[in-house]
Amino acid sequence: MSERLECIVCGRKFYRAQGVRLNAAGIELAFHSKACALKFVRSLLEHVEPGALRRGVSETLAEFREARKKLEELRAKTI
Ligand SMILES: [Zn+2]
Repeated sequence: MSERLECIVCGRKFYRAQGVRLNAAGIELAFHSKACALKFVRSLLEHVEPGALRRGVSETLAEFREARKKLEELRAKTI
């Protein structure tokens, strides 16, 4: 029998293998669906100090931009 978790947004119960789990600063967060996770994250963004959020967003954008660049370079090589 596998463990059931409870979605922190809507309260629905779900199995550990399903749903979305995030770790935010050591706090374990469990959502039954991507929609509930997104709802939580949207609300979370409003509670983060703007300066810290701006820094975090810039760094995350840079991370994805870099990953996309590497992927494009890899694609160019294989053609
Ligand atoms: Zn939910």
